[in-house]
Amino acid sequence: EFGENSCVFYDICFTQKMKQEHELNAMFRGALENGDFKVYFQPKVSLEDEKTAGAEALVRWQHPEEGMISPGDFIPLFEKNGNICRLDCYVFEEVCRTIDRWRREGRKLFPVSVNLSRQHFKRNDFLNQFADVAAKYRIPEGLLELELTESIFFDDNSIAMVRESINRMHELGFKCSLDDFGSGFSSLGLLKEFDVDTIKLDRLFFLDMSKPKAEDVVECLIDLAGRLKVKTVAEGIETQEQIDFLKQIHCDMVQGFFYSRPLRAEEFEEWADRRG
Ligand code: C2E
Ligand code: MG
Ligand code: MG
Ligand code: MG
Repeated sequence: EFGENSCVFYDICFTQKMKQEHELNAMFRGALENGDFKVYFQPKVSLEDEKTAGAEALVRWQHPEEGMISPGDFIPLFEKNGNICRLDCYVFEEVCRTIDRWRREGRKLFPVSVNLSRQHFKRNDFLNQFADVAAKYRIPEGLLELELTESIFFDDNSIAMVRESINRMHELGFKCSLDDFGSGFSSLGLLKEFDVDTIKLDRLFFLDMSKPKAEDVVECLIDLAGRLKVKTVAEGIETQEQIDFLKQIHCDMVQGFFYSRPLRAEEFEEWADRRG
């Protein structure tokens, strides 16, 4: 009998989940037009002088009934259809608008990175769209960075095709970073294939630094990046101990709650003004 019940229970949950997914997808367009997707900026801090190095743009959904929904709860849904590409373009344009406002207000212009879903790589001309938006806001070269993860290879994209996209990013004046580096299986090999500007070391590396080999692994990766002239960002940094260690091994930048959570644009501006 228990088995029967748990089966029914499972069915209800599954149906509810499907219904919820369907509703979130159905609400996507309206939410986009309403401006319910909010772009947050999480500061990156340069370890050399502990000053603001830039920010990563992270999206949240301000849902009228559900409240704030984090990307982990809707991005996987939007990756199943074309929505994620529209959303990424929206985030990218919001970032351009913000940088344009900084310029008009005479503020310092910080580099901002935007996450790119692997879905974009299904269309080989997707970068032109980004370039048109950047040109519309006359964003200076080098201020916009595109973050990609090795999940682009979950689809049938080839190394050659992705390499070409990265070269094209550079032609268009974008920087490119490899996100969540080290969380997957093929990260190290990708470094010899791609001309990326930055690697973002996944927060998993720093979760348990007490394991005897943990520090050695991170130190070797930072040394390797240095040899390849690739900048390093440590992600998910929460403690002073992590900062001390990362300084000692010459990691370039850190991003994490230790310095700041993701902030609204205005909050980021205040934060950066204070920190320099
Ligand atoms: P990500 O690109 O690796 O972004 C870093 C994530 O780590 C963010 O989660 C950030 O809030 C979180 N984080 C930062 N510092 C800390 C820390 O000290 N401790 C912990 N525990 N977490 C920290 P978030 O904002 O929930 O985003 C999750 C993922 O969703 C992102 O991972 C990215 O893959 C994706 N994402 C977010 N915004 C976008 C977007 O506009 N487009 C696309 N395609 N993906 C996005
Ligand atoms: Mg990212
Ligand atoms: Mg990341
Ligand atoms: Mg990560």
